Amino acid sequence: MNTHHDQVVKKQPTEKSESNNQTVSREELERQLFILTNIDPLTQLDKPDYFAERTRIMLDTHPEQNFILVYWNVKRFKVINDVFSSDTGNRVLVNISAKLKKLIAKQGTAGRLGDDKFVFCVPQKQLHKKWLLESANITLISDTAAYTFKSTFGIYEITDRKVPITLMCDRAKLAQQSVAEFNLVQGKPYAYYDRNLRQQMLEDQYLLSQMNFALAEGQFQTYLQPVYDIGSGKIVSAEALVRWRHPVHGLIPPVKFISLFEKNGLISQLDKYVWNQVAEEMEKRLQTGQTCVPVSINVSRVDFFTTTLLEELDEIIKNHHLPDNLLRVEVTESAYTDDPDRILTIVRELRLKGISVLLDDFGSGYSSFNTLKDIPVDILKIDMKFLEGFESSDRAGCILETIVAMARRLHLEVIAEGVETENQARFLYEIGCRHVQGFFYARPVPAAEFSALLSGPVKLALDKQGGADNFLDTLGANPKTLP
Ligand code: C2E
Ligand code: CA
Ligand code: CA
Repeated sequence: MNTHHDQVVKKQPTEKSESNNQTVSREELERQLFILTNIDPLTQLDKPDYFAERTRIMLDTHPEQNFILVYWNVKRFKVINDVFSSDTGNRVLVNISAKLKKLIAKQGTAGRLGDDKFVFCVPQKQLHKKWLLESANITLISDTAAYTFKSTFGIYEITDRKVPITLMCDRAKLAQQSVAEFNLVQGKPYAYYDRNLRQQMLEDQYLLSQMNFALAEGQFQTYLQPVYDIGSGKIVSAEALVRWRHPVHGLIPPVKFISLFEKNGLISQLDKYVWNQVAEEMEKRLQTGQTCVPVSINVSRVDFFTTTLLEELDEIIKNHHLPDNLLRVEVTESAYTDDPDRILTIVRELRLKGISVLLDDFGSGYSSFNTLKDIPVDILKIDMKFLEGFESSDRAGCILETIVAMARRLHLEVIAEGVETENQARFLYEIGCRHVQGFFYARPVPAAEFSALLSGPVKLALDKQGGADNFLDTLGANPKTLP
């Protein structure tokens, strides 16, 4: 690999050149001094103070235009210097500056804030997402491999021109820092600044800093929410939902930390912890001859990229001696739209291993029916938004009915999520939806309470009240016990 380092040899002034200096005009000297103070010698872009000065003038002289200020950071730039050479690193920086100069040729300012950090300000209409996407990847080829270095961008939309330019840069930087690894994988290398970002980032950093300790201390607890057979009123399965029992802040719900951990790649660790907790609990129940129902675990979209999901699950199932189809996997519909090919392959493999796959939040995305057309799942979990709307609108009820009928034709089991009232339960029963999950039946509860629910009395059993014969048989959801 090419790793030579250039030596910069400074030329010593000779008598001749010294005497030449005397002939340099005052203007030329001033010009040189100006350049030295204001222009970055490598990239010929503005230095930070000069960038701020020129940007301020541009904003003041064009009050009619909307501007944006963008912070550009090349990730892992130091690796370029290490793996290739500082020469190559410099060439990359010069290339970036060339792109920037082209972008601002019509109008705009651009500066280098240091190392691999750039900033530019252009009229909003002059910057297209395509440009950001194209500029985000730098591929370098060494003797042995090709390396792609990614950039991230933070965008500050200038609505208040009184804000000092340096503060605008800070805000754009904050937005840039909020672009996480996961966004890059998904091909979105930029983020916008908004007012809440700072407060949110402080809170996030606080939670992130506590995650490893919390895992080691067992602060994460897996709750189980039962799924009921609406006809018999019995529990047929459950969903595992994580909670963070924080010693100071109490019970923190997953909405506060799941997407944060997804952004920072910590989610896989937490998910594995949850899956193991679920498997342990099941093994305990099976060993003591207690009833055990299938439990579905939530698999984050990130797990598809960062863990060897199949192997991990296989190992957990084997280590805990679980029979087939007790541990199920929930994949949210939107994860599928992120990277259909990858998810499709893994879903197929999961099912080949005898692991049922549930399509979570069905109907919440933009292409639910396309997803369903392509992806071979076992169970549809209908998103709760349909039930939220059904009492006030006939359309929501109509859609629910159609989804249930379609699922039946496709031989898919359906679980309706978010059942909060008896009225909703009865409606679902009427349209032939057999399985339900929701606060009306039970909230997510710790394992011990779930045990009590399993052995307790049945809930509202609608079959007993007549009219059960219009239903499908349940598919593979019967409670299992070890002999
Ligand atoms: P989800 O997978 O769609 O889970 C269902 C959510 O709906 C749960 O929220 C549950 O408590 C809530 N819910 C259940 N019945 C009702 C109801 O009748 N009404 C209403 N309004 N809500 C109901 P929770 O536990 O706060 O979890 C939120 C989300 O966090 C989950 O949505 C899931 O996407 C994620 N999540 C939870 N645990 C895990 C986990 O261990 N790993 C991963 N990757 N994600 C998890
Ligand atoms: Ca779920
Ligand atoms: Ca759901």
